[in-house]
Formats: sequence, structure tokens, C-alpha cells
Amino acid sequence: MKLPKGDVLLHAGDISYQGDPREIHDFLDWFGKLHFKHKIFIAGNHDFFFEKQKEIIIRGLIPAGVHYLKDEGITIDGIKIWGSPFTPLFYRWAFNKKRGNPLAQHWNNIPADTDILLTHGPVYGVLDVVINEQHAGDKDLLERVLAVKPKVHVCGHIHESYGLTKRYGIKFVNACVLNESYELVHQPIVFDL
Ligand SMILES: [Zn+2]
Repeated sequence: MKLPKGDVLLHAGDISYQGDPREIHDFLDWFGKLHFKHKIFIAGNHDFFFEKQKEIIIRGLIPAGVHYLKDEGITIDGIKIWGSPFTPLFYRWAFNKKRGNPLAQHWNNIPADTDILLTHGPVYGVLDVVINEQHAGDKDLLERVLAVKPKVHVCGHIHESYGLTKRYGIKFVNACVLNESYELVHQPIVFDL
């Protein structure tokens, strides 16, 4: 895949199939070499490595110029970016939390002055429709996003709902590059701030 040009590259999680360390090293090696001024990623429900491995080891693996966000933020040229890997409980994947309070506790950490919010899963009702036409997004995340009003919310996770749309005065991006059969069919999405 040829990546479009940009200042900041965001990856919304699921960098591996099942979090095998070899997949993680392969991703970090590739991601670290890409020509963007800043590269930011979060883990997703497939990325068990980031859930199981010791934090000190994970931080030691992150290449220069790459930022790994786990319920934390970074400011780049005055733009505040926050990232979180958590998604609603679905079987037993990584960074899964029960809907309601367990998940909402993570959303409460999102600072009110966030410009770009990066979460692995979508909010309820926006780019979150799965194959059986149900909405898979999280209602508490929607509530927090509407309170925070970031300029952009970026998610991945729901392969069937790739795209960019504007709702509630917020730009929403579902950046899934794979389809339901895990085939690489979508292009990275570019947006201006
Ligand atoms: Zn996912």
C-alpha cells in the first residue's frame, strides 16, 4: 500500500492479528521508518501483546518519532491528541471492558480540550454498523465525545463501516483498511485540521 503524504500519521489499532510479538516487531519496524513528522498509534482488541506485556518493555520498544497512546495524550504544534485502546466486551479480546461504568471510566479520562480523539472502537451510531446492520458503537463514548467536542474522532475496529462523515459538528473517521474478510481493500483516510 502506498501511503498518502501528511504531517501526522494516526493508526487506530489492531496492528496485529493476535498480538504475536513477531507481528508487533514487524509493525513497529515498518511504522518507525515511515516518513511522517509524527506517528501515533493505539492498540486494538487484536493486540494482546500490549495488554499482557510489561509497560516498561513496551515503552522500550517504541521507535523514535512514534508515540504509543494508552489512555493518554500528546500535544503536537498546539494540537491535543488523546488515544485509548478500549472497546466493549466481545468474547474475550484485548482491552475489552463491559459497557457502562467499566468502559465509561476510561472515557472520563479524555480531556475536555482534546482536538483529535483516537479510540479503537466507534461511538454509537456513527460509522459503527456491523454486518447484521446492528450498531456496535459505545453509547458512553458518544456521550463523552459530544461533551468534549473534538474536531476529529478517529476509530477503527468495525471493518464494515470504513469512511469519513461529519455529524454533530465533528469529523468522524473510521480508518479500517481491511474488509470483513480481512482483505486490504481500503485506503488510508486523509483529513486537514
Ligand atoms: Zn478491532
